[in-house]
Amino acid sequence: MVRHRLSRQQKERIQAIQARRRQKCADRADKTLEKSDQNSPEEGLVITRHGQNLAVADNEGRLHHCLFRRNIGHLVCGDRVVWQSTSPGHGVVTALIDRTTALIRPNYGGKEKPLAANIEQLVVVLAPKPEPSQYLLDQYLVAAENMGVALLIALNKSDLLDSRSLDALDDQFGRYSDIGYPLIHISAKFEHGLDPLIARLHAKTSILVGQSGVGKSSLIKALLPDIEVQIGRLSETSGLGKHTTSATTLYHLPQGGSLIDSPGVRSFRLGSLKLSDLERGYKEFHPYLGHCRFSNCSHRHEPGCALLEAVKQGGIHPQRLANFLHMARGI
Ligand code: GDP
Ligand code: ZN
Repeated sequence: MVRHRLSRQQKERIQAIQARRRQKCADRADKTLEKSDQNSPEEGLVITRHGQNLAVADNEGRLHHCLFRRNIGHLVCGDRVVWQSTSPGHGVVTALIDRTTALIRPNYGGKEKPLAANIEQLVVVLAPKPEPSQYLLDQYLVAAENMGVALLIALNKSDLLDSRSLDALDDQFGRYSDIGYPLIHISAKFEHGLDPLIARLHAKTSILVGQSGVGKSSLIKALLPDIEVQIGRLSETSGLGKHTTSATTLYHLPQGGSLIDSPGVRSFRLGSLKLSDLERGYKEFHPYLGHCRFSNCSHRHEPGCALLEAVKQGGIHPQRLANFLHMARGI
């Protein structure tokens, strides 16, 4: 990637330019706020961000082009904010309301940057093709447990399955529902089996994640028949510029709930973790943690290892422990 080849000087130059731009916008925000009558502050929701411009939805769902005051942090899609109207359709964000969760990804400088906020549920989309990866699924589970969000597994392309391949898939993934992660079979292409999914998306903010080709775009289309209308409204939000699906955006689901989507959000990966975070990420390990004979047990070969014993007794699936150990090597 070109980004990796930037020299330190170039990076500093880019950062300086960006800082100047932010400064200018913040100045503009302060000036418009001073000029406007003292409109009372309201709560709002950041629907999307284009550079220093935000589309903020008010409590009635109307969109406003907002700038923001300096020093309120890096605002992202899904943030709840306090904002003040400055003229019809325009306003200034004056405060960020504490996030309940944040989807974070390291950027090219190695600094962690939020991608989206206040997500409550990760929907991992799997399909018989491309070949589903339990390892990738386990990474998503670890991320969900550590972010404190719910996780749902959607097995897509169920139309491609005969009863034998369905059994094989259930054999592989059925154990996740035993651990406590709901699993539903759907077909995005034929819009089949979507009702249980829609019910689970209701009244929550969710994102879809998963390998390329599993059907995430098809599912978005099926779940958001009016996505073009929502995109059109964002493009009309004056000052924001033409809206594209590559910008992280919160969409309202017709039956209730929201989906946050963008290519970056869909392909997010597990960030850096401590061993204890990784252990916490394997839900069915919890009852055994702290019960190994050695407090620094690596759970690989030690006598009296509670996790190895649980594998023998059937409380932990051997593949889950193997995936855990493999992930532990990488941290
Ligand atoms: P994404 O990369 O995860 O966004 O996947 P896409 O939505 O682009 O889908 C990849 C391919 O799988 C496309 O050719 C879709 O038509 C196909 N596809 C998506 N959902 C289904 C499904 O439920 N059944 C079948 N048979 N094909 C599907
Ligand atoms: Zn152990």
